[in-house]
Amino acid sequence: MEPEHLPNIFKILPLALPKDTTKLCELCQGRASLECAQCRVTFYCDASHQFADWVGIHEKICPLLVPIRTWTLRGSTGEGRIEKNIKKRELIAIARSIAEAKVAEGKHEEALPGGQACLSLCVDVFGSSTIELVPAYLLLAEAYLGLGKLSPAAEMISQAEWVVSKSPDCDHELNHRLHRALGRLQTAKGNFDDASLSFANDIYHAAKAYGLESTVCRYGYFLIANVFAKKGKTLIARSMYKEVAQTWHSHLTKLMQPFLENPEASPLPTFDKAKQVEVDNMLQTILDFEQHQSIKEHPLIALLLHCLSMMWFMAGDCVKARGFGQSALQTSQMSPQQELSAAIQSLLELVDMWYSS
Ligand SMILES: [Zn+2]
Ligand SMILES: [Zn+2]
Repeated sequence: MEPEHLPNIFKILPLALPKDTTKLCELCQGRASLECAQCRVTFYCDASHQFADWVGIHEKICPLLVPIRTWTLRGSTGEGRIEKNIKKRELIAIARSIAEAKVAEGKHEEALPGGQACLSLCVDVFGSSTIELVPAYLLLAEAYLGLGKLSPAAEMISQAEWVVSKSPDCDHELNHRLHRALGRLQTAKGNFDDASLSFANDIYHAAKAYGLESTVCRYGYFLIANVFAKKGKTLIARSMYKEVAQTWHSHLTKLMQPFLENPEASPLPTFDKAKQVEVDNMLQTILDFEQHQSIKEHPLIALLLHCLSMMWFMAGDCVKARGFGQSALQTSQMSPQQELSAAIQSLLELVDMWYSS
């Protein structure tokens, strides 16, 4: 239970339902014995499912569900149906963005209720096995993969695959997400050859959707490199990791450049919060891999630490920015050329100046 949700606990005290209820639990579809005391149109098998749903999505959509679920009579007329449909589409967008943010933040358990709400609303509005369901399937698959629950993840991915296979005009963005999820599942199952192929498809579609130089595409390279590392193909994994690290280094340097040159006149560069967990995880994985090599490439380690320092500076975490910056400087000074020392030094000065003022 997270502290920020504590005050809300009083709002979510449930009401007991009569014993012979036909109502179903919002989360597990089991027989419900409780109802939400706020909206009174949402039901649960027990308090733990109610709490999980509240934290995951219900808190944000509780009042919005009332018109959708109580307009049975009015909703059957033409006008009422259209109005209801608009409300449902709004809810789909809300549930999807909340669940996506939770996945991006690494809160996979909390992403499930939003993903499920999104899926059942999509089925309701668009019908079963339609292309509109694919984002919801993939969202749930990503959450299950994050939790290491491979069989529900596989189920969601195969549903998505089936729909996509019947939709030849499915766009590159969706294809990229499908192949990435598939590759992740195959990696987790140890099917490394299949995983490489899926990530190659993922990169192809990501390049079409976002461009070859995009960070989305580069993350695909990182995922393939992981597969090589897991297969024990250290040489190729290492060279791919290095390329990924260099791309990110130039990306972050470019973001920081105007501010480094003129901190008074330029706005503090911001880093997409949704990507923070993913990028941090990627840089740390590469760093860990390089630090475990018998002959270490110190300039590369310095470059990775410099990336982490820049990222945390932009994220507003001065302690981490300084910590990684200092390690980056020490490591850079171990290599004869010390290519990055000057850049790291100015970043560290900036960290001190910015956060002491
Ligand atoms: Zn339940
Ligand atoms: Zn409610």
